[in-house]
Amino acid sequence: MLETSDAYDDIRDAVAKLCANYPGEYWRKLDKEMAYPEEFVKALTQAGWLAALIPEEYGGAGLPLSAGAAILEEIHKSGGNAGACHAQMYTMGTLLRHGSPEQKQKYLPEIANGSLRLQAFGVTEPTSGTDTGALKTTAKLEGDHYVVNGQKIWTSRAEHSDLMVLLARTTPISEGMKKTQGLSVLLVDMREAKDNGLTIRPIRTMMNHATTEVFFDNLRIPVENLIGEEGKGFRYILSGMNSE
Ligand SMILES: Cc1cc2nc3c(=O)[nH]c(=O)nc-3n(C[C@H](O)[C@H](O)[C@H](O)COP(=O)(O)OP(=O)(O)OC[C@H]3O[C@@H](n4cnc5c(N)ncnc54)[C@H](O)[C@@H]3O)c2cc1C
Repeated sequence: MLETSDAYDDIRDAVAKLCANYPGEYWRKLDKEMAYPEEFVKALTQAGWLAALIPEEYGGAGLPLSAGAAILEEIHKSGGNAGACHAQMYTMGTLLRHGSPEQKQKYLPEIANGSLRLQAFGVTEPTSGTDTGALKTTAKLEGDHYVVNGQKIWTSRAEHSDLMVLLARTTPISEGMKKTQGLSVLLVDMREAKDNGLTIRPIRTMMNHATTEVFFDNLRIPVENLIGEEGKGFRYILSGMNSE
């Protein structure tokens, strides 16, 4: 039996109760079929657990990061896999902390009520992992759109998400500039983007983790989907994940 802290006992009990409906057989069957735990994610969303960190004014529970950790810990303690949906908690932080009031009003209530999924996080590329500043995907401003070209890899849950938080280079690196400058965060509406410049290819992994390669070929993203200011994306991505 795993040892967990006794903080958030009430939350832990409720999450454990929900997880009891999804026993080992449920997860083993999904593993065999390499399938996404759609039913489990829906139940977790409907019960409000994935909106735990979204402020109450946007329909969430407004809980601190430690409560989010308790929820995820309890899922894993029950034998389930929170990796199928945990990103909804951390990717949302970039939008919450750095998005405009209009962007927050447009997306957060729907993310909180489960009608919109923000589960995809496009940062890693085939030639840039921890060295994020070396990423090669570009977003060039043309009129009222950014035109995105490049590739991401290990973009988990892209097939099961409506939105993606994307980090791309908007300013080429020039002399004296740090690699982490000139990067910007764009919110990609994948429902519109698929087959309009966005291609998603699943990667077969040894564990059942819905991860993908994502290709951008002149994908046009409206300028209003820029989060915060141009060039500050590296900082936004880091601080978005640290919400307490
Ligand atoms: C299951 C899974 C899901 C993922 N999901 C996503 C996702 O949804 N979105 C996304 O963007 N990415 C995702 N990733 C990618 C993940 O974030 C990267 O694997 C991570 O950024 C590391 O990059 P890398 O694998 O290229 O390793 P590298 O950057 O090549 O690093 C390999 C090792 O070398 C070490 N290292 C690197 N540079 C140095 C140095 N200068 N000095 C000393 N040590 C160094 C690192 O600490 C690490 O231990 C996922 C990965 C996995 C495995």
